[in-house]
Amino acid sequence: MTAQPADGDAHLSVTCARGGWTAPSIVPPSAPPIYMTTAFDFESLEQIEEVATGRAPGYIYTRDGNPNHDAFASDVAALEGAEAGVATASGMGALAAALLGLLESGDRVISAKVLYGRTGQLLKQLQKSFGIHVEFVDANQPDEFATAAQGGAKLAIIEGVTNPLLEVIDVPAVAQALGSIPLLVDNTFATPCLMRPIEHGAELVWHSASKYLNGHGDVMLGVLVGRKERIRKVRATMALFGFNANPFECWLASRGLRTLPLRMERVSDTATELAGRFQQHRSVKRAFYPALADHPSHHLAERLLPHGCGGMLAIDIGSRHAVDRLFRRLAGRIPFSPTLADARTTLSYPVGTSHKFMTGLERAAAGITDGLVRVSVGLEDVESLWREFDDALKA
Ligand SMILES: *Cc1c(COP(=O)(O)O)cnc(C)c1O
Repeated sequence: MTAQPADGDAHLSVTCARGGWTAPSIVPPSAPPIYMTTAFDFESLEQIEEVATGRAPGYIYTRDGNPNHDAFASDVAALEGAEAGVATASGMGALAAALLGLLESGDRVISAKVLYGRTGQLLKQLQKSFGIHVEFVDANQPDEFATAAQGGAKLAIIEGVTNPLLEVIDVPAVAQALGSIPLLVDNTFATPCLMRPIEHGAELVWHSASKYLNGHGDVMLGVLVGRKERIRKVRATMALFGFNANPFECWLASRGLRTLPLRMERVSDTATELAGRFQQHRSVKRAFYPALADHPSHHLAERLLPHGCGGMLAIDIGSRHAVDRLFRRLAGRIPFSPTLADARTTLSYPVGTSHKFMTGLERAAAGITDGLVRVSVGLEDVESLWREFDDALKA
């Protein structure tokens, strides 16, 4: 069988395999291109050597690096006040690359007890499989970090604002209690618009960029930022283990960053208003939001989150049955969706999703009750949201 020539003399198979059109333009595009490519082409052995050694700018293979990875990670580094950053396939990828890149078996890690469920699970797995010793402490008690630090540690891990009860952690006090032990902060909930942990003494910051940094509920992505030397090590681990991000998702998240400050301001305002109204509602036993005067972290929030407390809040509506009824009534408008920081408001049930792997006793100790619903406030106007919540909560 002979294929038809496609373009002039070129055999169809050659055109199919190689393409060849590039934009005839002396001016760059206003938005960055998407480098959806596995590798980059070289003219000579000398040229690949120049790029590989860093004497000439360029990229070789997308698992190792790609312009869209760097565009995204360097923006986040700038926002967090860090020297450098590395993008990964998910938030968990960023954490895994950081831990595998910076720790060796036998090392000690000090970690907050209350963490995103999978973070705690990953630490326990490293403990079991790789002989990394993890000491879990109460992040609300900086003294516990000081005590644990006496035994020495390679790394300490906390979240700036915790899930799902929105406790604000005294990051400067924890950093100080740790002395020279580097502190890694999960800044997913606050984002650099509301808190910049490096300014408070943290050394490394990581994000699930699947959440606010992207902000549109359509990406899986992670990022870690910090000092150049540490990021270099983590980047090598990322490439070796294949934790690399997808260029298109980096491009989407870079686009998300353009509106991050507007979104964080909007969700903080809406969440503050909703939290106040939930607190007054007959069907709500308790509302959790750091801007509320009765929240345990209220004073810390005033000091550490002066520009707003973000878009996450939680309500306790009494029972699993009440939660199920609320989800059914709101389905199609405010969905039960096990994520957060989408453009739309979503609901989650910590007992059944993020904190499912804890024992009942652990959950009780952490204050995660059967009637707890976590609300991720989106960009809808507050009155429309309130009408929907109020209707659905009415018995
Ligand atoms: C979602 C989330 C993670 C994990 O990130 P993925 O992108 O889902 O891998 C880590 N920390 C927090 C606080 C999160 O909300």
